Amino acid sequence: MTAKENIPTSQNNALTSLGISVIEDFIGARSSSRPKERLEEVRQRALRFRERLLAGTPVDYFQSVDIVSAPYPTKYAYLNAVKSLVPFIFLGNRAFIIQFQTSQGKKTLLFGPADVEGNTKTPFFKLLTDKLGRIGDMTKGKLLPFYSSVEIELQKAGISPESIDYISYDHLHTQELRKWMGSSTAPGYFPNAKLLVMRQEWESAQGLLVTQKKWYCPDGTRDIPAERVILLDNSVMLGEGVALVQTPGHTEGNHSLVVHVNDQIYVSSENGMSVDSYAPLQSNIPGVKKYAQQFDMEIILNGNTLENSIDQYISMVMEKTIAGPNPDHPGFFNVISSSEQAHTWHTRTVQPAFRFGQMKVGHFQA
Ligand SMILES: [Zn+2]
Repeated sequence: MTAKENIPTSQNNALTSLGISVIEDFIGARSSSRPKERLEEVRQRALRFRERLLAGTPVDYFQSVDIVSAPYPTKYAYLNAVKSLVPFIFLGNRAFIIQFQTSQGKKTLLFGPADVEGNTKTPFFKLLTDKLGRIGDMTKGKLLPFYSSVEIELQKAGISPESIDYISYDHLHTQELRKWMGSSTAPGYFPNAKLLVMRQEWESAQGLLVTQKKWYCPDGTRDIPAERVILLDNSVMLGEGVALVQTPGHTEGNHSLVVHVNDQIYVSSENGMSVDSYAPLQSNIPGVKKYAQQFDMEIILNGNTLENSIDQYISMVMEKTIAGPNPDHPGFFNVISSSEQAHTWHTRTVQPAFRFGQMKVGHFQA
């Protein structure tokens, strides 16, 4: 059976009417029973995909905005690698705004918008805030490296809720989607947006195992109108220069944002937590380089859930290969972690080499 025959025609037609096309490059790439063969097959295909993307048209507009930061256990962030007594680092959640051309006209994607208040119902965050109590509440704005909201950041960028065509997340951990996407009783903040989500991730959220529950916002997807959700079974090109590529591991239904911006490719997911995760041999975080050398690891997993660690390892190699080298930091890659470790004074001994700050390229057209 060819790669093409694996794609149901009905889904293909529905996507085509939106200007979305299935990416066939990775279909069957993980079919070998030998993980090492899977890794090398994915790496080769990722390299070809990168070259193909770079030969195409970049997106018109690319912006990343910092939304909210939260404490995160160091032991998860760089699984088994860190030698430090600092128990928590801070991760910073960001959203991307991307405008691009499609066969159906110009479209705008909002990737990773967190509902800051709604997401606090996630059991992991609840456990943390219960522990900190009122002191935590009082110091929230001051303690965290940054604390904003999607509404504020979009307003600052001059982008209206009506102009968002698509919303997507690399996975659904902590996400309360109803404020944005609406329910049977409320219209939702983004009236025209459709949610693009891998079918596996959506299905996972409807029937979580106890090992997953701590990380998902209870009822975060409940009662969202079906017509606002597009379930994906494959990696897809959303239009010129922007793709959602399946990168299972951190969660089963994980995907990564891939964007062609000028002459660079940027990739984003939460399989890894910083630039050091994708280039551990360059890392100055205590223990990371040594751990990578000792076990011959070319990436370090983000390990809070480990839904599938073999897939996660392969996906991270795939991500850094598609992203390619960072032009300003030799040895590092253009992977912008969706929850990237933030720099803070009290975690300065376990800080990554650099952090992708807020970025803005091109002009948004309303
Ligand atoms: Zn996650």
